[in-house]
Amino acid sequence: MNQLNNYLDILKNYQSLERGTNPRPNAYELKSPEGNFYGSLYKNEIIGQYGKYAEKVDWDDFHNWLLANKSRLHANTMFKRAKQYHKLAFSKELIFMESTRKRQDILKCLALFTRFLDLKYDTEYHYELLKWMKKKDLKWNSAKKVDTYQLAKIIPIESVLERINQLSEKYKIFGLFMLASGLRTSEAIMAFNNHSSLCSNGVMELFWDRVTKKANSVYCHPLLHDKMTYKTSASRVTKNLHSKYLGCETRYLRKLNYTVNATKIDPLLAEFMQGRRGNVSQRHYFLPMMENYKKKWTHIWTQILKKSLMEKS
Ligand SMILES: [Zn+2]
Repeated sequence: MNQLNNYLDILKNYQSLERGTNPRPNAYELKSPEGNFYGSLYKNEIIGQYGKYAEKVDWDDFHNWLLANKSRLHANTMFKRAKQYHKLAFSKELIFMESTRKRQDILKCLALFTRFLDLKYDTEYHYELLKWMKKKDLKWNSAKKVDTYQLAKIIPIESVLERINQLSEKYKIFGLFMLASGLRTSEAIMAFNNHSSLCSNGVMELFWDRVTKKANSVYCHPLLHDKMTYKTSASRVTKNLHSKYLGCETRYLRKLNYTVNATKIDPLLAEFMQGRRGNVSQRHYFLPMMENYKKKWTHIWTQILKKSLMEKS
């Protein structure tokens, strides 16, 4: 009995030594027959398969599905983006892409694209995409937060322009119109949507009078004139010119406008155009003044707007 115990002790000791000198690999280090790690093989399999499905997709089919389920504008945008960016799903490139509006847009189109693949081929890419996003900490709304401190500071017009230039064309034009006109957001939308009937010889006569807020007349800049051919809405403006994209509130554009007009052209003119002074009964006094300053105003604002409107993006 004693001998057996001794023997077992020796065996135990021997086994513990053996384990120590011959360590077993961790599960995730196990290699497949091809020599790949299982971990990466699993990932590659998904990506590989995804690529296969994505490549054989009937784009017209996808487009029609979008059109049947989304608004026309949204469907067309998503279609264009998916066609351009579908290869970025599950990619390192997307993980390390700067967390901007663009990345959000790409994620949104990939979400729809994978949904379509799933419907079409009975796959589970939409779910895989969400899982992957979670794992890689990719968020739908991860556009960089604007420092709230920055909102309180004085932001130079150059920085605001830089932000406006990053907006999609439609909102860039509208943002520049807000900046150049100095109108309040709701007035700017109304003026923008009715531009063709309001604009005459570079001047838009508004003379709107609400309880405490007035809008008189503003210039229409020739660089913007031909581009204001569509309509926009309050909800679209709120969403697309949000301070997180613009770097400031839209009403700050009105302040910038006033500063430029008052310091570089004429303070009285600046006040009239912002509705702080004069009204429709003084129209005969102020409108000739606007005529007189038109050339100067156009020149000053060409300097400000030309970079945004004349350079190819
Ligand atoms: Zn015009």
